[in-house]
Amino acid sequence: MALSKAQQANADAYLERFMHGLERRNPGEPEFHQAVHEVARDIIPFLEDRKAYKEAHILDRMTEPDRIIVFRVCWTDDDRNVRVNRGMRVQFNNAIGPYKGGLRFHKNVNLSVLKFLGFEQVFKNSLTTLPMGGAKGGANFNPHGKSDGEVMRFCQSFMTELFRHIGPYTDIPAGDIGVGAREVSYLFGQYKRLQNQFTGTITGKGLEFGGSLIRTEATGYGCVYFAREMLATRGEEIAGKRCVVSGSGNVAQYTAEKIVQLGGKVLTLSDSGGFIHDPDGIDEEKLAWVMALKNERRGRISEYTRKWEGSTFHEGKRPWSVPCDLAFPCATQNELHADDADTMVANGCQLVSEGANMPSTFDAINVFLNNKILFGPAKAANAGGVAVSGLEQTQNAMRLSWSREEVDKQLLEIMQSIHSKCVEYGREGEFTNYVRGANIGGFIKVADAMLAYGVI
Ligand code: NDP
Repeated sequence: MALSKAQQANADAYLERFMHGLERRNPGEPEFHQAVHEVARDIIPFLEDRKAYKEAHILDRMTEPDRIIVFRVCWTDDDRNVRVNRGMRVQFNNAIGPYKGGLRFHKNVNLSVLKFLGFEQVFKNSLTTLPMGGAKGGANFNPHGKSDGEVMRFCQSFMTELFRHIGPYTDIPAGDIGVGAREVSYLFGQYKRLQNQFTGTITGKGLEFGGSLIRTEATGYGCVYFAREMLATRGEEIAGKRCVVSGSGNVAQYTAEKIVQLGGKVLTLSDSGGFIHDPDGIDEEKLAWVMALKNERRGRISEYTRKWEGSTFHEGKRPWSVPCDLAFPCATQNELHADDADTMVANGCQLVSEGANMPSTFDAINVFLNNKILFGPAKAANAGGVAVSGLEQTQNAMRLSWSREEVDKQLLEIMQSIHSKCVEYGREGEFTNYVRGANIGGFIKVADAMLAYGVI
């Protein structure tokens, strides 16, 4: 419902006061401020005629994590040097279920990054309709260039502290940047050893020890399913579309795979060194080569041009200048800026579906919304990964494994239901503001649970 002029002025003033207070209480945390600002600008006007949420200070409570655990992680490298990193877990909100969210190992991990990710996770998990609270964790450990032995020792040391704070009814971590199948296996092995229990406390596990089929593919597949739903509202489909994808890790790989399966043409992939552009399209064979490069040989995306003729490498650049119909940012936060968004709009881009978390800056999102681009924000578009993590937990609790088809079907249904929820709360005449839809749709369930509990 549109607000009156007076209500809008009230909401604007409240937003300014609210953000000022949040920034004062959380100094030096720009990513966290950005994530909260993106949510608050939709939620605060929504609260204007909803007194119960306002009086209970739900938004203030939802922007304060339940707790943050910070710990030292010591390990020895292959040259027997003692190394020290910082481990963290931000348990943000467990109003609708046990904490759930990934672990990130990357040199740039800090509290601001983990608080932004944990905060977003609360909304995302709510949107999946599964009973999962929100959390995020990780360490300022850089797995690049480390041997398997070094990664194993780091993971074991990390879990030696984290294990006492997690559990199947408390907090269930998973992977994220720098935490793939290898790291999850080391982490779960150490957890199991310390607890002397085999429980589904980590998701993304190997298939031999409680993992779910389709979990590896889920975030990327889900991101493309969400894009397909958005396109369908305009009577369009993925087949024949030129697609630009960033990243070349887990999310990018399976986003690209699903695009190819649906008949789209993938033109780019990237890593922190730059992007490759293949005007002929990255087909199944080329993608299999990229997966081996990244997952087994742990090489750089620049190597692509030496193998596949006609492709080019653009050092230190991101792929947004390549003309496309559809864009899938799948690498990391703040990798797509307002000037990139302007270029994409000028080049005729119709849709952006975020595989990574917060890849578009606040100003870039405004460009997309102002130009009525179909824009699927991360908390909706990449929720497929955590949704299948939730299904992995269900299978673990039932002590059985569902087929690939069964899990894929449930993933698709969840992505469709998230899309419907975004349309329900984000409709603005002919246009759907998926950002607003996801923010309000994710907020209500958590807020109602918090109201029901009273003041805790
Ligand atoms: P991976 O570690 O598998 O891949 C990350 C990719 O992003 C790599 O290609 C990496 O390049 C690139 N990258 C990382 N940092 C930067 C940077 N600063 N600049 C440019 N490129 C960078 O991680 P995932 O694919 O799992 O995660 C990608 C994104 O998706 C993250 O935002 C994550 O939070 C989000 N996500 C992941 C989910 C999952 O299920 N895995 C679920 C939901 C969201 P390089 O190798 O050079 O570092």
